[in-house]
Amino acid sequence: MARRCVVLGCQKSNGLHNFPVDLEVRQQWFSAIGIESSDLRPGDGICNEHFTRDCFTNFIEVEMGFLKRLRLKSHAVPTLALRRLINFIILELC
Ligand SMILES: [Zn+2]
Repeated sequence: MARRCVVLGCQKSNGLHNFPVDLEVRQQWFSAIGIESSDLRPGDGICNEHFTRDCFTNFIEVEMGFLKRLRLKSHAVPTLALRRLINFIILELC
C-alpha cells in the first residue's frame, strides 16, 4: 500500500514521518490534525510540510545537501499547513 500524509488536503507520499511511539506525543499529533487513532491506516504518516524547522534534528544538514532525509525530534508536533483542514471543516458545515 502506498504511504501517504494523513493531513487532509495534503496527500504527499514523500518526506513522511511515522506516528510517534510515545503515547503522549502521539495523542498530540492526533489532536493537531483532528483525527482519531482509529482513523489511522497502516503506512500513514505526516510529511515534512507540517513541521517547523526546529522540529528537526538535522534541518541544516539537509538544507545544505549533506543529508537527504529530515529526522524529527522525539517530541515534535505538527503545527504547519493545517489550515486546509480547518477550511475543509468550515466548508462542510456551511
Ligand atoms: Zn503533508
